[in-house]
Amino acid sequence: MPKYIDAEKLVLEIKKKSGGLLSGWDTAGVLAVILNQPSADVKEVVRGKWEQDGVYQMCSNCFSNFEHEDCSGGELIFPFCPSCGADMREVE
Ligand SMILES: [Zn+2]
Repeated sequence: MPKYIDAEKLVLEIKKKSGGLLSGWDTAGVLAVILNQPSADVKEVVRGKWEQDGVYQMCSNCFSNFEHEDCSGGELIFPFCPSCGADMREVE
């Protein structure tokens, strides 16, 4: 599991310790500051894509199938998989 940190807090901590740009610091000192940063409160995002198969769309993450048309023929677009919760929104 990766450890996420707040980069702004890291920069502030380094500035407090060195008084400038890493002067007087060695690699071990910088690494000690980075490794002792508190973890950010984040949640890993599981992403997927809808794969069309006739009247069904299949989640690429859990392979669950859902109809992509409602009873009046309108298109149903789920931003998240109703089965596994994968984020189906496009990312840049
Ligand atoms: Zn799914």
